[in-house]
Amino acid sequence: MDFSVITREEFMLISKVSEDFGRFGKTERKCSRCGGDFEYYEMGSSSQTKCKTADCLEITSRGI
Ligand SMILES: [Zn+2]
Repeated sequence: MDFSVITREEFMLISKVSEDFGRFGKTERKCSRCGGDFEYYEMGSSSQTKCKTADCLEITSRGI
């Protein structure tokens, strides 16, 4: 995971978003930067959670 481009608070938010997608397949949470929706991709053993706005919040998790 890349901590350099997001704050700790943003990381906590997007971690919760990732959990929501993993459990429920959706999230009610909104991006704290732009107020937009998040989207979620699974790629083999890793997953990517990102804001729909380009170059906004994004994390990739591996080995869940
Ligand atoms: Zn955003």
